[in-house]
Amino acid sequence: MTITRDYYEVLSVERTADGGEVKRAYRRLAMKYHPDRNPGDPEAERLFKEAAEAYEVLSSPDRRRLYDQYGHEGLRSRPGHDFRSMHVEDIFSMFEDILGGFGGRTGRGRPQQRRGYDLETEVTVSMMEVLTGTECDVEIDRQDVCDTCGGSGARPGTTPETCTTCNGNGQVQQAGLGGMFRMVSACPTCRGRGTVVAERCDDCRGHGRATAHRSLLVRIPAGIGDGQAIRVTGEGEPPSPEVSPDGSGTPGDLHVVIRVQSDERFERDGDNLIVVEPVAFTQLAIGATVTIDTLDGRHELEIPAGTQTNELFRIAAAGLPNLRSGKRGDMVVIVRLVVPRKLTERQRALLGEYAETEDTPVNETSGSFWEKFKDVVTGGRSQDDKEQ
Ligand SMILES: [Zn+2]
Ligand SMILES: [Zn+2]
Repeated sequence: MTITRDYYEVLSVERTADGGEVKRAYRRLAMKYHPDRNPGDPEAERLFKEAAEAYEVLSSPDRRRLYDQYGHEGLRSRPGHDFRSMHVEDIFSMFEDILGGFGGRTGRGRPQQRRGYDLETEVTVSMMEVLTGTECDVEIDRQDVCDTCGGSGARPGTTPETCTTCNGNGQVQQAGLGGMFRMVSACPTCRGRGTVVAERCDDCRGHGRATAHRSLLVRIPAGIGDGQAIRVTGEGEPPSPEVSPDGSGTPGDLHVVIRVQSDERFERDGDNLIVVEPVAFTQLAIGATVTIDTLDGRHELEIPAGTQTNELFRIAAAGLPNLRSGKRGDMVVIVRLVVPRKLTERQRALLGEYAETEDTPVNETSGSFWEKFKDVVTGGRSQDDKEQ
């Protein structure tokens, strides 16, 4: 009995990860530990199945809630599939919708799919590149048709021979359940090809595929968000050699997942950027013009006399472009009062003199003061959160 690892750890996602992140994390692992890409590696198969188990739980809101609350124990009342004893092909067909054309293998009586595997990679862009859009060099390794043998797996000058186990059909029939059913499955000798190679190609050791390095230029549109993916059609892998030795058929796609580097100056909120501008009491009290650095320039912001701390100002169209419309969002400036920690003697004297002119030291004891106070001390969280 193996110990069941934490599902978030298995998928390498935060506990706060949303459905899209969970899905992408699973797809990435399924591709990495795909048994076809790790032939004869039982550890890869184990990790492949473990990822499927974690995904099944974390992709279901009900099960995820139970798991979050009670851990693995909580799932006893809602048992999922026993992936450890399932066939890899069946796991593929279960998650076909997210693994895409990932199941190139002929499985157990299903029609042959002549579509190759999807691939996924990541690129990181800066906030400035989100503003302007950019082009990125993307480097990938993929299994391509072996140049030496053209995918047949046979040493040049020789040809593959008809498989004697299946007579070239690629499939064998077995009686199941005491003869009640006839089950068709991929031929174990030729793995569905219908042919076997007597003399193997040296370059691919008979597999018909070899690792090829590919570098391509991918256009990243302005306004892209962190975690969004760009699909490059046909830049995945060719169909597997079992169903298409020469690689003909539909290749898989390449998914380029975009990571947007955080910019310490700004917080991003959709198409808007948020910036906190520290200001002095005097600037708020008598008004001032402050220079705000935007992503692509500067803006002179007028702060009227009598502005309160944490008041918001909006600089129109200084945010990021919308991915669809191209229309730029705004920059939201939060002016925040900074009280000097040290005063010169002259400043202390002047402030003392000023204090004597004030009617009341705090002139805002209304409800709104407490609302603001709460916002500030809790960082804007609700009352309920605060009481926990
Ligand atoms: Zn070869
Ligand atoms: Zn065969």
